[in-house]
Amino acid sequence: MTRMLIIGPPGSGKGTQAERISERLGVVAISTGDIFRANVKGETPLGVEAKKYMDAGDFVPDSVTNKMVRDRLSEDDVEPGFLLDGYPRTTAQVDYLDAILADGDQKLDVVLQLTADDEELVKRLLGRAKETGRSDDNEGVIRHRLDLYHGQTEPVVQKYAERGILTQVDGIGGIDEVTERVMEAIKSAQTA
Ligand code: AMP
Repeated sequence: MTRMLIIGPPGSGKGTQAERISERLGVVAISTGDIFRANVKGETPLGVEAKKYMDAGDFVPDSVTNKMVRDRLSEDDVEPGFLLDGYPRTTAQVDYLDAILADGDQKLDVVLQLTADDEELVKRLLGRAKETGRSDDNEGVIRHRLDLYHGQTEPVVQKYAERGILTQVDGIGGIDEVTERVMEAIKSAQTA
């Protein structure tokens, strides 16, 4: 049983690593960004609402995001554990997640943070913009997303550090190399 979070700045490869961790640990990876993008693609009311914020690199409001996460975490496939990717991003979302977990008598086992230097991230994201055409990957929006990460999400990391469940991994390097570091870190955190 593993319930964990992966946190990292935009471009740190957290989505890619989340997929790999999910496969290796046999738990479902839930990415709020992916759920939003699927809704944008399907032009659902949730997608139409979220798109305005995503294109500007802003956070989708908690009124939308929190309910979406609560609903997702009530599905049967999270029973053996889960890996949340991209949530919580603010301390208010930490409080909300705490309440969801407390309702189910559950707690988090590990919070993994991928670290990377801002300039390296900007370089990576501009490269990804060329390949994928993601509408939130231009330099102004990228820098705004990084500012939000430092201002809003680093305090989230701090909270989990204070709870003693944070483990940090250097996200710079080849994808396989980072996966090995991540799996080692999870193993040590679980036996700590
Ligand atoms: P990501 O793929 O995790 O980088 O998320 C892409 C975008 O989805 C973000 O820039 C936000 O606009 C939105 N988003 C994803 N997760 C959250 C969240 N926890 N709170 C608010 N907005 C979010």
